[in-house]
Amino acid sequence: MPQRWRRYWPWLASAGLALCVLAEAVHAAPEIADPGAFLEQTERVRTSDHPRFVLMLEQMRSEAPQLTSGQRWYLRYLEAWQTAFEGDAPKANSMLRDVIDHSGDITLKAKASALLMHNLGISNHYEEAFTLANQLASELPEVTDKLTRFTVLANLSQLMVYAGQTDLAIKYARMMEDTLPPGETLCNPLSMELSALDKSNRLTSSSPMLQEGIDTCLAAGQPVFANTLRLIKSSLYLNEGQPTKALDLLKRILPSITASRYYSHMRGVQEQLALTYEKLGEDNNARKAALAVLAMSEPDEISEWLRETYDLLYRIEKKRGNLNATLTYYELYAAQDKGYLDDISARSLAYAAVQQHVLAQKLETEGLSKQNSILRLQQALDTKAVETSRLYIILLLLVLVSIFFWLLRIKRSQLRFKMLSHHDGLTGIFNHQHFVSEAERTLRGLEKRQGSACLISIDLDHFKQINDTHGHATGDVVLKHTVALCQRQLRPTDLFGRLGGEEFGILLPECTLDQGMAIADRIRTAIEATPVNGEGGLVAFSASIGLASTDTSGYELQHLRKEADAALYRAKRTGRNRVMSDTESEGLVKA
Ligand code: GH3
Ligand code: MG
Ligand code: MG
Repeated sequence: MPQRWRRYWPWLASAGLALCVLAEAVHAAPEIADPGAFLEQTERVRTSDHPRFVLMLEQMRSEAPQLTSGQRWYLRYLEAWQTAFEGDAPKANSMLRDVIDHSGDITLKAKASALLMHNLGISNHYEEAFTLANQLASELPEVTDKLTRFTVLANLSQLMVYAGQTDLAIKYARMMEDTLPPGETLCNPLSMELSALDKSNRLTSSSPMLQEGIDTCLAAGQPVFANTLRLIKSSLYLNEGQPTKALDLLKRILPSITASRYYSHMRGVQEQLALTYEKLGEDNNARKAALAVLAMSEPDEISEWLRETYDLLYRIEKKRGNLNATLTYYELYAAQDKGYLDDISARSLAYAAVQQHVLAQKLETEGLSKQNSILRLQQALDTKAVETSRLYIILLLLVLVSIFFWLLRIKRSQLRFKMLSHHDGLTGIFNHQHFVSEAERTLRGLEKRQGSACLISIDLDHFKQINDTHGHATGDVVLKHTVALCQRQLRPTDLFGRLGGEEFGILLPECTLDQGMAIADRIRTAIEATPVNGEGGLVAFSASIGLASTDTSGYELQHLRKEADAALYRAKRTGRNRVMSDTESEGLVKA
């Protein structure tokens, strides 16, 4: 009896949906003052007082004041429920899809999805039902309303049993145990779990959990659930070869099942009685019970109930030798068997197809996320490349800046060397060589435009004596002091150089003889008037100066120098501390 479980499934499916109803008592408000509360009350009475539910729905449609968008979708859901109740499944399903797609309310969406899933399951739209189940399962973490969550889980568990996915069914049933809404007991979740365990042949008639489930449901005042579990237990007795125990149990629960008038159980108990009587050799009773099952079934129904019943009737008629009846029941059995097996395979195929689809989507998503990671990696690499090139640019700039400073240093050294090579180390003015070359260049320019210039030769008087008397260092101070005194009398364009030990030359461009003589004399006067501080006190000194002018001696430096030196010599000879020019033979300018 491999598919024994399925007989009680319809009850469980309905039970899951009716939960909201079974749990609560209801009082409808006479007037619609609060549409939200009125809608909730309407929903609560939908199965316990269905005529009132219809009336309240009608009242809501015609009398309700302006509804909010959320309330309008709630009403739409209740209308869909009513449409399904009236048997118009296609219309109900399209209304439910509308609620699922557009209400934007997670609780309402979950309720509508659970009802749609149930409708699709019982109308053999397995693939759609399983697709919806996947969607519902993935959205379950967002459903916070406990009762809705409980209902969704119950429906999921049932559908998974239906699909042969018992482990999943057990998982959902256990999740129900963890999310019991107020007023709910463990009866419902335990029934779900036990149905799944039974379906996967993991129960025996002595499993403690089975008895625990029965006791829990009886204690919770849920005889219908208790009977579902007892029917499982009796079928297990039968399976285990204990027909007497099965019969005892069936007889015990028969009054309760009859009282409940629950169609599925009434048929189930008769079918099990038939099989039990057959096992006990009571064929008449078995036939009677089997015919009771047939009486409760639709003529064109395909179900496991009918398959088992026709099989049993076939066996009994065969034993009796009633050939016509045997053949008829066999044909009916064969039709049921084929139809039933087709249904089973349709269900598992649909489930497998949906799972494949989900897997493909997952792979696609993973593929996309891999592509995204590659893109991210690429971007990271690009960023790194940009950073690296920035680094290279910075390094390059550093190298260029270093080269620039290095070149600058070289240039400065060159300039320094050049300066050193052009200037006198002690006084800082032009050295002999540079003075000569600069003076020649200036004179050439002056010659071109026929300008005047004076060349002055200065020689300190008795300088050797200063050295000898006051020391070489004082001599150096005197030399530097002399240079400073001369510079005060000179213009920036004048050339000034040290021509030898204590001899200096000055070229005064754009300068007449008289102007030159005046400058020379101011220099001589300044030297004479400004002694320096030596080691042994003040050191006074003087200078003799010779002057040659281009006006009288021409533009040749050599000649000018010769004339200036000659004038200097004359100054020395005539007593020192005086200025002589190339124009006068023994002229005298004395301080
Ligand atoms: P006169 O009045 O005839 O020019 O006599 P003088 O002593 O100045 O001339 P002389 O040529 O005999 O002496 C020049 C001295 O200058 C000789 C030398 O020792 C000194 N002398 C040359 N260069 C330097 C120098 O750089 N520093 C110092 N302290 N003395 C120097
Ligand atoms: Mg000298
Ligand atoms: Mg001298």
